Amino acid sequence: MRKIQMVDLQAQYQRIKHDIDAGIQEVIDSAAFVKGAKVTEFQEHLEAYTGAKHVINVGNGTDALQIALMALGLKPGDEVITPTFTFIATAEVVALLGLTPVVVDVDWETMNMDVESVRRAITPRTRAIVPVHLFGQCADMEALMALAQEHRLYVIEDACQAIGAKFTFSNGETKQAGTIGHIGCTSFFPSKNLGCYGDGGAIFTNDDDLAAKMRAIANHGMVVRYHHDMIGVNSRLDSIQAAVLDAKLPHLDEYIAARQKAAAYYDHAFKDCPVLLIPGRQAHSTHVFHQYTLRVTGANRDALREGLAEKGIPAMIYYPVPLHQQKAYLDPRYKDGDFPIAERLASCVLSLPMHTELDEEQLSYITSNVLRLVN
Ligand SMILES: *Cc1c(COP(=O)(O)O)cnc(C)c1O
Repeated sequence: MRKIQMVDLQAQYQRIKHDIDAGIQEVIDSAAFVKGAKVTEFQEHLEAYTGAKHVINVGNGTDALQIALMALGLKPGDEVITPTFTFIATAEVVALLGLTPVVVDVDWETMNMDVESVRRAITPRTRAIVPVHLFGQCADMEALMALAQEHRLYVIEDACQAIGAKFTFSNGETKQAGTIGHIGCTSFFPSKNLGCYGDGGAIFTNDDDLAAKMRAIANHGMVVRYHHDMIGVNSRLDSIQAAVLDAKLPHLDEYIAARQKAAAYYDHAFKDCPVLLIPGRQAHSTHVFHQYTLRVTGANRDALREGLAEKGIPAMIYYPVPLHQQKAYLDPRYKDGDFPIAERLASCVLSLPMHTELDEEQLSYITSNVLRLVN
């Protein structure tokens, strides 16, 4: 049996080695390492794939979120609502820009932002909501967009884990994660569902003005060369990463299907286990399973993780500490117990190996060991 890893990038590479190598070689031959033709080609292919009117490639997913917030013209003290159960980047950029992160609890089943908690957190200073499509399925975007519209708020989607996930609205319209709000952000970190071989990210928007502004911000606030109209940053996807992504993008739907197949195997194995809960599904969203995350409710999660490690099975805790309990983000507005679902999730979640190369032998080995350890 092939060694089990959380993510098996080596085996995935071997299947498309020829295309990746050729793309990288093309960039080296052209010597257009920054702002080369490959970056524009990939941008156009990603626009076609996602249906976003504008894709702006940037240096990483965190930059994507920061640039999105910078484009909104917010003022210090303006409030931005994020879930407390997420990767730190979501709130980090809010704090870094002198804005006030307001955190809310999540839903026990989907682990995504809880819409009623968002509603209660809205104040006259609220300017934006940043839903995170955690682990690969969309938050309840229909309810969140309606709430945002009612209060005239921006919605910036953190779609770093959910590229390719689709949400279907009650009018029958289907949109991809990241293309629903005013702005969407994604990451091409190697282990993400569409990962490059270094750092990368992208911003999606259908708004021409925001697109122009974000393109300028990502390029030192520059529209005409050496004329700087606003304060910007330097954030770009380099050509070699664009070549890797352009070779992988045509396979993204297969990759999603492979993840969904592995998730179905896990679901089937665990659905009747009384001490584990399989991931709850968000109505009207597909799930692209960036992670397959169990809730270990009737067994010792940490002992299970250790027992699996002894059998050569890695498992990860995403995320062990909610934002409001992180040292750097402690705030007198919040205390332990304020976000009970996020706190409970932090103590019971366990993500199993999830990638495009898991075979049945590995899945059977993983599931039988999990069940043996909890029974
Ligand atoms: C990965 C990730 C980010 C940050 O992306 P980077 O490319 O690593 O900067 C932000 N938010 C979420 C939810 C992520 O999973």
